[in-house]
Amino acid sequence: MHSAPKLKDPSLLISQAYVNGKFVNAASSETFDVYDPGTGKKIGSCAELNAEDTNKAIAAAVDAFVSFRKTLPRERATMLRKWYDLMMENADDLATLITWENGKPFNDAKGEIVYAANFFQWFSEEAPRIYGDTIGASIPGNRIMTWKQPVGVCGLITPWNFPAAMITRKIGPALAAGCTVVAKTPGETPYTANAIAELSRRAGIPPGVVNIVTAMKNTAEIGLALTTDPRVKKVSFTGSTNVGKLLMKQSSSTLKKLSFELGGNAPFIVFDDAPDLDAAVAGAIACKFRSSGQTCVCANRIYVQEGIYDAFAQKFTEKVKNFKVGYGFDDGVTHGPVIHDRAIAKVESHVQDATKKGGKILCGGNKLPDLGSNFYAPTVIAGATNDMKLAHEETFGPVAGLFPFKTEKEVVALANGTEVGLAGYFFSRDVGRIYRVAEALEVGMIGVNTGLISDGAAPFGGVKESGFGREGSKYGVDEYVVIKSVTVGGI
Ligand code: NAD
Repeated sequence: MHSAPKLKDPSLLISQAYVNGKFVNAASSETFDVYDPGTGKKIGSCAELNAEDTNKAIAAAVDAFVSFRKTLPRERATMLRKWYDLMMENADDLATLITWENGKPFNDAKGEIVYAANFFQWFSEEAPRIYGDTIGASIPGNRIMTWKQPVGVCGLITPWNFPAAMITRKIGPALAAGCTVVAKTPGETPYTANAIAELSRRAGIPPGVVNIVTAMKNTAEIGLALTTDPRVKKVSFTGSTNVGKLLMKQSSSTLKKLSFELGGNAPFIVFDDAPDLDAAVAGAIACKFRSSGQTCVCANRIYVQEGIYDAFAQKFTEKVKNFKVGYGFDDGVTHGPVIHDRAIAKVESHVQDATKKGGKILCGGNKLPDLGSNFYAPTVIAGATNDMKLAHEETFGPVAGLFPFKTEKEVVALANGTEVGLAGYFFSRDVGRIYRVAEALEVGMIGVNTGLISDGAAPFGGVKESGFGREGSKYGVDEYVVIKSVTVGGI
């Protein structure tokens, strides 16, 4: 039996929403329950806000914007840097909250906190470097400048798979630009974001600049409030493509500035000239099974060229068999549960579909009820083919389909044969091929000879139905500013 984890600072376990600098209950006093996916036990009950509460949070953000937009870039940088320091000082507690409500192993959760905090550090450094231009005018006596101004109040909606990083990746650039935010956090994982909001208060970020709306069943009405309110000027969403399409439609009535980080279906290609088969196996393992396969940049289709297919499949399966699956706080656990029973059902349906169509299970292929109802054995399926669900839908779970292929031309066509295009990976030592394939893959991010591409310094985002806009990097701020052209005449 696992007892509830303990925080060094118990005041970071917060069940209320954060509006106008205060933690508040829903006006209706309603709450929703949050569960530990590892044990199935209830963690606590959180405030179930609704559209009316969201309107109050938007009003707070509108008021705060009046003065926050006028703060000096250096002041905003100092606030973000302080927030970064506080996240790092409280990294153990924040990681404990992630493991508790999301299930990922504690070491992975610590890694997420470092990645998440890095966005505050990075954008604290970008805040003083948001430059405009001076442009030569075509009209005599005129001078043209561009100013980058904060877009205004931003509505942010984030998923449960990275309870800390998805929110800091949006709030960091928004605040650097001088915007204020209303963030709707995921019902599955509200506690991590609430603790981060408390640290914003301790970092001296003024009331109303950061508002956190918590909810489960009222999610759709809150989404509607954020996307249709004319006071909200920008919506940034990370989540599934279907919900992204709905939010885009809703946002059209007020023509908001949008950025969408949506679902992926990443190809991971191993050519037979890969520099090192062990490195390709290690890259595929990290890329496929991190967070039990629940990342948007996960390898979803692993294509291996015929000459090395058997050797790759054998080495890959050996590694997967060595995983230690279990409760995220237990020693030595490398892989945790998936988030809930719907995720298990999707994994099962993909495995059943693949075996019915001729796929061969090399390991796994079953639930692990002794560990808990949300555990599924890490699974490798050989002989995966293009008619399987594995090829066309994001599994978002610990299942790796290995697809054999013959030629570069064939595999590039297969890799591009989806509506989405977030990340893509390939292993090759041929310089010509590296350029050719990197240019040809229809994705927003490419890993060549590596399975790990998430880095705050690199632009993150997709093409096709994986969305648009970029997060992190020097480009991240562009999503939160408007460019104003100022022409001064009579000079
Ligand atoms: P989801 O779209 O169901 O939910 C994401 C968030 O949107 C949640 O907070 C949810 O509460 C909220 N939401 C759901 N319906 C809504 C509505 N009608 N109005 C407003 N908000 C709504 O996705 P999910 O299953 O929770 O997350 C997994 C998906 O997210 C996967 O497809 C994954 O690829 C994607 N994802 C993408 C990225 C990226 O950067 N591209 C990163 C992480 C996850």
